Amino acid sequence: MKRTDSTQATATPTHVHLETFGCQMNEYDSELVRSLMKQDGFVFTDEQERADVILMNTCAIRENAHNKVYKHLSELKKIKRQRPLVVGVLGCMAQNLKEELTEIQPLIDVLAGPDSYRQLPMLIRNALLSQEEGLDQKGLAVDLSEYETYHDVVPDRHDGVNAWIAVMRGCDNFCSFCVVPYTRGRERSRDAEGIILEAHKIAEQGFKQITLLGQNVNSYRFGDWDFARLILAVADVPGIERVRFTSPHPKDFPMPLLEAVVSHPHICKQIHLPLQSGSDRILGLMNRAYTIREYRALVDRIQALRSDIVLSTDIICGFAGERDEDFDETYRLVEEMRFHSAFIFKYSERKNTIAARKFPDDVSEAVKTERVTRLFDLQRNISYGRNREYLKAVLPILVEGDAKRSAAQGMGKSDGNITVIWDKQIVPSQPGDLLSLAIYDASSTTLYAEPPPVS
Ligand code: SF4
Repeated sequence: MKRTDSTQATATPTHVHLETFGCQMNEYDSELVRSLMKQDGFVFTDEQERADVILMNTCAIRENAHNKVYKHLSELKKIKRQRPLVVGVLGCMAQNLKEELTEIQPLIDVLAGPDSYRQLPMLIRNALLSQEEGLDQKGLAVDLSEYETYHDVVPDRHDGVNAWIAVMRGCDNFCSFCVVPYTRGRERSRDAEGIILEAHKIAEQGFKQITLLGQNVNSYRFGDWDFARLILAVADVPGIERVRFTSPHPKDFPMPLLEAVVSHPHICKQIHLPLQSGSDRILGLMNRAYTIREYRALVDRIQALRSDIVLSTDIICGFAGERDEDFDETYRLVEEMRFHSAFIFKYSERKNTIAARKFPDDVSEAVKTERVTRLFDLQRNISYGRNREYLKAVLPILVEGDAKRSAAQGMGKSDGNITVIWDKQIVPSQPGDLLSLAIYDASSTTLYAEPPPVS
């Protein structure tokens, strides 16, 4: 590796390996990071062994993602003993655990929070220089911004079929369990015209699907643009077959957005509607700002407008103070709602949240596990039943690539975002194709497809 400094580009490029943990927003942020660093002359590699710099874009929302990052850091410690290496932690963990990370993990050279990625090339170059000079200076950039939306950064997209656009960043809702308002800061929306221009460029590059991202997309506001108007404009972009969005908040799901979903042929008939708990008492402690009655009324409204809309949700089991009767209410509501799918998590207390300050994490690990398992089993049966309802139906499938288990199988998604698999010898396919296939079998997670019968 050649000598570097903060103003001079290297003759031999510095190789960077970037790993991403957590949600789609983090995947999108990694695309921004790649773009910003490539502009500055850095080269990315998939091979950790070739990298001069290893970056981890982290998530602080779930314990699981958090533990994976710590495990990976201890592996990097061994590599760093053997050769020069700059290690950077980006994203929500960098923001939320800055003291802990710098103290417990002396191997970390750079910490950059979600609003500080523009500073990353400079921080990395300084870290490389410091390392060459035998110094041990840390680069830290974790200030939150009220304005940063990276509106002028074109993400370095790889997928070829699905593109994400973050239409807003941050969150003002302060759900008591959630760390996002502290790690990603206050809500701010990107300019609508910039988003639509980006959607046109994405279509010109051959992408077929756009997912509009925001911590709470219903809060999108830019001048006289709201989210319903924005998604309709994006769905009108020629060449874009499908538009999705995640996540809306059940407390303020506006009718115009529902009408947009129902009426526009390119907006997918799928809504992710995080429930979190079926108990009003627990929803109150979570500061979710809706009751079960209101949630149920919203689902009724959605289904009255269009009964085939695919609904998915998130549920937390074992939140602080959750009693057996609260969990029973959640269980019964899940039975009643028959969501197509659900992400079910054990509650894990997150540092700096309202719940961590106010409510003791008093449900034992064993009880949390038992509740998650019971709910998971219930949901698996419901998902199985829901998927079997598609048997013999002919569905439009957007091809994403090969199936994970076998390159002999193609894999794509239904309009409702359900994974579909087929035999490529029978149905040849390329990523980006839009196929019309008949469903002949279904599991709780997957639909199996074949050519439709010739009529
Ligand atoms: S709406 Fe609630 S759960 Fe979602 S990001 Fe905001 S604070 Fe977190």
